[in-house]
Amino acid sequence: MHPPSFDPRHRLSDWPACSLEVRCPCSPRLTIIPIRLLIERHGDRPFQGVLARLQCSTCKGRPAPVYLVAGHNRTFMYGPPAEWALELVPVPSSGRTGLLSPNPSGN
Ligand SMILES: [Zn+2]
Repeated sequence: MHPPSFDPRHRLSDWPACSLEVRCPCSPRLTIIPIRLLIERHGDRPFQGVLARLQCSTCKGRPAPVYLVAGHNRTFMYGPPAEWALELVPVPSSGRTGLLSPNPSGN
């Protein structure tokens, strides 16, 4: 299944069934943020504003990579893979690792 076209000017409500997958170089943890939760907490913003404000709770840096993933029933360690994922924030320059393979020991 191919990703639909995404534009950072889209609002969160344009992608209500998706989630953000957020990683930070400071930690192996993968954080899943449902779009619906972002809307509840921060209102219906354009993605570019949301991405600009993302901050790692551990190191206060800008997390990367960030993916928009489909499949709101996905549970990240045990569920099926996402139907598709879009890279919103690129992987840091150290290279791509485990693109959509959640680390099973990252708890
Ligand atoms: Zn961090």
